[in-house]
Amino acid sequence: MAIFNLGSINADYFYRVPHLPGPGETLASTGLSRGLGGKGANMSVAAARAGARTIHIGAVGADGLWARDQMMESGVDTRHVATLADTPTGHAIINVDDAGENAIVLLPGANHAIPSETQEAALSEAAAGDILLVQNETLMQAEMAKTARDLGLYVAYAAAPFDASATAAILPYLDFLILNEVEAEQLAQSIGKTPEALGIADVIITLGAKGARWINGSQTRDFPAMPVTAVDTTGAGDTFTGFVLAARDRGLPMEQAIALAMRAAALMVTRHGTADVIPDLKDVDEARF
Ligand code: ADP
Repeated sequence: MAIFNLGSINADYFYRVPHLPGPGETLASTGLSRGLGGKGANMSVAAARAGARTIHIGAVGADGLWARDQMMESGVDTRHVATLADTPTGHAIINVDDAGENAIVLLPGANHAIPSETQEAALSEAAAGDILLVQNETLMQAEMAKTARDLGLYVAYAAAPFDASATAAILPYLDFLILNEVEAEQLAQSIGKTPEALGIADVIITLGAKGARWINGSQTRDFPAMPVTAVDTTGAGDTFTGFVLAARDRGLPMEQAIALAMRAAALMVTRHGTADVIPDLKDVDEARF
């Protein structure tokens, strides 16, 4: 089967600065590094490295071909990543100071201009039983979810970054919802229902170093996290999501899928970086915790 992921692709620009700039201040950066990011791209890379046939649906500007190519090198099918002539690639300007504190400016750019024909062309290749994955860094998630549901796809949604109206719009079409503890709280507050009460087949709440909770109908199961020393938790949730869905796509029972995703995410937090350091299945199999 396959995972179709409608998601963001970002260029992350990390600027090292002595301190975060204040209003009106001009500050020289002491270094710049660039990396592939965006929740969508991270999840596609994770799913592909976990062994799933992963088709990314998205867009970049003419300045983002390297990002698309990096996804392709990680095994992601990028035929449905459109290149837009007049819109910049989504990007994040991330100032990081000497204390490790950061301040981020995010431009959605091409992520908010994914052509509807691109989305339709991708879905025309999908078959019942395939997975559609969406998050909140694009537009039109609910419309895509509804169409996919009608086609018999398993519709998965990572409610991140949390957006109350986008989440409310998509809830009726979901088979799978994944969110972290903070997002679960935001969801409960915004719609007045706990994730348990939503009537979605599978709900996973990730709990950082405490592991994850799987809610399946009236049953709740907690999975402890692997004992590791975290050095950088960026991308942990995205790695978890990509791995859990790839495992489900392979037909593994959810308990095993979660156990695998837990190991992959634990390995991820021991590494500095984002998409470039998402582990593959072999790394996860060989890891000793
Ligand atoms: P997000 O990155 O979306 O905020 P979490 O922080 O809940 O998500 O982390 C996602 C998953 O990553 C957790 O369910 C867990 O499996 C793993 N993880 C995160 N932090 C740690 C940690 N310190 N030690 C081990 N595993 C971790």
